[in-house]
Amino acid sequence: MAIDGHRAKELNLWPMNTDSKIVSPTASPIAGPAPDSSEPIVVSSFYQFIPLEEAQLPELRQKLKELGESLGLKGLFLLSTEGFNATVSGPREALNPFRSQMEALLGTGEDSPAGPVFYKDSLADKPVFLKMRVKIRPEIVTLGNPQVVPQSAVNHHLEPEEWHRILQDEDVVVLDTRNRYEYEIGKFKGAIDLNIDEFQSFPQKAAESGIPKDKKILMYCTGGIRCEKALIEMKNQGYREVYQLNGGIINYLERFPQGHWEGECFVFDYRVAVDSQLKPSKTYGLCPHCGQPAKEKISCRQCGHEDVVCNHCLGSGDPALHTCSKNCAHHFRMGHKSTRPHLDPLRRRGLESTSGSRGNQ
Ligand SMILES: [Zn+2]
Ligand SMILES: [Zn+2]
Repeated sequence: MAIDGHRAKELNLWPMNTDSKIVSPTASPIAGPAPDSSEPIVVSSFYQFIPLEEAQLPELRQKLKELGESLGLKGLFLLSTEGFNATVSGPREALNPFRSQMEALLGTGEDSPAGPVFYKDSLADKPVFLKMRVKIRPEIVTLGNPQVVPQSAVNHHLEPEEWHRILQDEDVVVLDTRNRYEYEIGKFKGAIDLNIDEFQSFPQKAAESGIPKDKKILMYCTGGIRCEKALIEMKNQGYREVYQLNGGIINYLERFPQGHWEGECFVFDYRVAVDSQLKPSKTYGLCPHCGQPAKEKISCRQCGHEDVVCNHCLGSGDPALHTCSKNCAHHFRMGHKSTRPHLDPLRRRGLESTSGSRGNQ
């Protein structure tokens, strides 16, 4: 999927450099107090498929927003009649009360029939969202078919230990349910890439994959939610033995930072990716032209600024993409002479945009 600034804005990310507006290099991207570097920001992702009354959703939205804001948390919380899917970030001591009060509001948690919510945490060195947003959506992860709702959160789930053992000992098909640009920067060794641009095309791509129906299939995604629906789809297509990695890559890396994973794990916020220690990527930024992960260093042909551009854009044959920003690409195409950097510093390290499929984990 093309990733663009408009989408990023909707997704509650950072201020963007639009081509018409240069943001002052001294402008702080962070509203409110500066982050205390001694206190790590925890980025917590979680979801649960539980039925929520449609009529209640607006009130829940308001209460969750107020709760998050009162604790100084930032994030994106998706609500739907099929459940919730969220990434919320802040200091650990603010997340704990958020969790207990959120669980009470949604009627979930340890002592409820819905069962415990599974929180997957990674670290950031600064807030990964600009504010707390809560949105009502038809689906909490978009397959494009609200009829596909997982009934039980524990069917066919493999814990990281079991997953790790099977990859070592058995002849299985490992299937990546994420997008191509996510697969490209990190994957389980030997995993099949379905070459997906967005999750909605999973059913079709799986049908075209030619994977034998009798093979044992192990599926994974970032935090598990996409596999919840992908698994039902695979079953519907006649695959008999399908399992998913419980808690996704994040959960696996927490237990096996040196296991069967290779590369980094794409995440849907400014960090672009986390490494196998679940720390913010030091390798990847977001490509200024297409918004996908980028690590090829360039010196901008327009302004000379050093930046990273993705190998797809660099390989496209368009010299205007050897630039540090859309702005510089525009001036390059127009033949303008300029040595002034057109780069918005906020755009560096992916502050401009992120994937259009926010809500995926
Ligand atoms: Zn690119
Ligand atoms: Zn430039």
